Amino acid sequence: MADKDIQLEIITPTGKVFSGDVDTFIAPGFEGYFGVLQGHAPYVVALKIGEIKLQSDAKLSRFATTGGFAEVLPHKITVLAEAAEPADAIDLERAEKAVSRAQSRIEEGRKKWDVDRAELAMARAFNRMAIAKKNI
Ligand code: ATP
Repeated sequence: MADKDIQLEIITPTGKVFSGDVDTFIAPGFEGYFGVLQGHAPYVVALKIGEIKLQSDAKLSRFATTGGFAEVLPHKITVLAEAAEPADAIDLERAEKAVSRAQSRIEEGRKKWDVDRAELAMARAFNRMAIAKKNI
């Protein structure tokens, strides 16, 4: 562990998707993307749909997240995410199907569907597609 490293855990309802020391961490907050350096004062921040980027042993890793919370302590960050998939584990076809499903529901409208929910599903799927495509 280098001097400036931070211990990071990313936990989702299906398990731990990352655990290790990182030297950079960037995540999607509601007020925009933010980075955390070692020694930061403690705080908790809500995360929205977007990309988590981290660098560990000079290797950049990217995750699609659908939101959650990050607890920042001077030497440790814990992310509790609703979902977080490493870019190379995103199923592009599944995300494309989710977009079409959401799109038809939005078109069929509020009488039949919860359109707000469909819009969120669409945002999750677009985010996954964008992150998976960057990885190709
Ligand atoms: P879908 O309608 O395809 O299930 P969703 O947006 O409703 O998409 P979520 O509720 O965000 O899915 O996630 C449910 C679980 O499925 C999570 O564990 C998430 O990591 C996983 N997941 C969802 N979509 C994908 C995908 N395209 N590739 C890989 N994992 C996915």
